[in-house]
Formats: sequence, C-alpha cells, structure tokens
Amino acid sequence: MEPLLLPDRHASGIYGRGAVFEHVLDCLTIAIGGIDPSAAAEVVRFPPLVSRMTVERCGYLHYFPHLLGTVHSFTGTDREHARLVEAVDANQDWGAHQTLSDLVLTPAACYAAYPHLSGTLPADGRLLDVESWCFRQEATRAPSRMRSFRMREFVRLGQPEPVQAWRDTWMQRGLAFLTSLGLAPSIEPASDPFFGVGGRLLAVSQSEQALKFELIVDLDASTRVAVMSCNYHLEHFGEAFGIGLADGRLAHTACVGFGLERLALALLGAHGALPRQWPAGVRAVLGMA
Ligand code: ATP
Ligand code: ZN
Ligand code: MG
Repeated sequence: MEPLLLPDRHASGIYGRGAVFEHVLDCLTIAIGGIDPSAAAEVVRFPPLVSRMTVERCGYLHYFPHLLGTVHSFTGTDREHARLVEAVDANQDWGAHQTLSDLVLTPAACYAAYPHLSGTLPADGRLLDVESWCFRQEATRAPSRMRSFRMREFVRLGQPEPVQAWRDTWMQRGLAFLTSLGLAPSIEPASDPFFGVGGRLLAVSQSEQALKFELIVDLDASTRVAVMSCNYHLEHFGEAFGIGLADGRLAHTACVGFGLERLALALLGAHGALPRQWPAGVRAVLGMA
C-alpha cells in the first residue's frame, strides 16, 4: 500500500502526502465548512507567505521568535555571488550571503487576514473563513508536530461580548463535530508557547484570563494532541491593525483553528488506514458515503 505520508529525507517535520491522506484531508475541509451552515463567512485562502510587517505588528518576534521561519534572498553583486557559491560548495553556512526579505512563512492562518480589516467594522462585526499552509520551527519530530501544515480558521471580529460568546459556542460545536467523527474529544484550558522567562508570565496571564482552549483527541494509544484551538485575543489584533468599532472602541477578535493534518492523522489512527471501511456515520459526516 502506498504510504500515507512521505517524510523528507533531509529535514524533519516536512511530509509529502499520499492519496488516502489527502482524500481524508479534502473531505475534512468540506465538512468543516458545513459545521455552522447559518453563518455566512467571507472566504479567503492565503498563500504560505505573509508580509514580514504583518508578523512584526502581531508581536510574533516578541512572543514566538523561536517558531518563525523567515524568507531570505540573494541581492548581491557578482563578487558577492562568487562568495556565496564558494560557501555552498564548501558546505558552509551561506546564510550571511543572503538578505532578509519582506516576507516570512505564515505562522497562523488568521494573521494574514487582519491587515485587510483595518478601519471601522460594520455594526454586527465580521466573520471570516480562512486557510493557509503554516510554518513553525517546531523542536520535536513527531508526525503530529509538523513544521509545515494546513490550518483552517474561522475568525470573528466585533464587540467584546458577541465575540467571546461566539468563541464559547464554537467550543461546544467543536466537541460535537469531533464526537460525530468518533474521536472522543476533551476540552482543556491552554496557553501559547511564549518564548523565554518573560514568556512564562504571558502564558500564566493567558490561562488566568481563559483566553485559549484546545480540543484534544487520541492520535494513537499513547498520544493525545490538540486538533482544534478556540482563542479569544481581546483587542490585541484590533490595536495592532487599527480595527475599530462604530463607537470608536477597538474591535475584539477571536479565532477557531483546525489543524487539518492532525485531524486526518487522528481519523486514520481511530478508524484505520482504509476510509472505505470506516463507520458509516463517520463517512456520512465526511461526505464519503
Ligand atoms: P500545540 O500546543 O499542539 O503546539 P498550538 O497551541 O501551537 O498547538 P495553535 O497555534 O492554536 O496550536 O494552532 C491551531 C491548531 O493548529 C492546533 O490546534 C493544531 O491542531 C494545529 N497545529 C499547531 N501546530 C501544529 C504542528 N506543528 N503540526 C500540525 N498541526 C499543528
Ligand atoms: Zn487564529
Ligand atoms: Mg504549538
């Protein structure tokens, strides 16, 4: 049988995907779009790159410098090119011969959306449906912790109360969706992996304010991972990108993120490598029936 995933031979956390894996992932993306049919979300799909200015404004270098992947390119002269080639041929680090570009690898799908939302929101706010390949320079090598993966997110912007209520409703919707896929989810308070000593304080404060919850499922007999996260950002992105309310206050934002590769791995772990033989109820939810 063809492999589900083909690990890159020279770099951890990078995988090619076989037909079965990709089929499951495709079905998941359609099913996720149907979880809340009442909501008319604005759909945007982003490339795996975003402007460096966007992550600078989000504070990513302050909070998660260890996870960011940056894009560099060669901008030198003929003479500098000769030195670059010399370093490459000698198997030396040739990073110093490149220049930081205006792009970074997108670390989370919703980041690419906020710069488009600057200005004043309509009275009942906005709802977006975004997806992007994301990159994180993860430290561990488990297949559940890829360095390049797809994240689908719903993003809600508006007044504080409805935004927080929307996030809370999605925690219940997420539980119901994952249960319908036969994944036995649990919900847990969580915090982001902020860098350094100062980062520990930020993580404590995030937990105390109940800003992040993860929906966790079994990946295999010994591993449980987050396949969804439900995040309330208060006015962090409203402030960073000048997104305001009609009454002059800053907009609040929340996002619900689905890790598509992790979800596919959890389904394949729970029900086996042959989707044709999965329980009828699960196949129906995924539109496979
Ligand atoms: P974790 O605590 O597992 O590192 P996270 O808090 O970094 O997750 P979020 O930033 O909330 O994750 O991202 C939303 C979702 O994207 C996660 O719930 C997960 O399903 C998925 N995700 C995050 N990091 C990875 C990764 N390295 N590989 C695959 N999926 C990931
Ligand atoms: Zn997000
Ligand atoms: Mg993480």
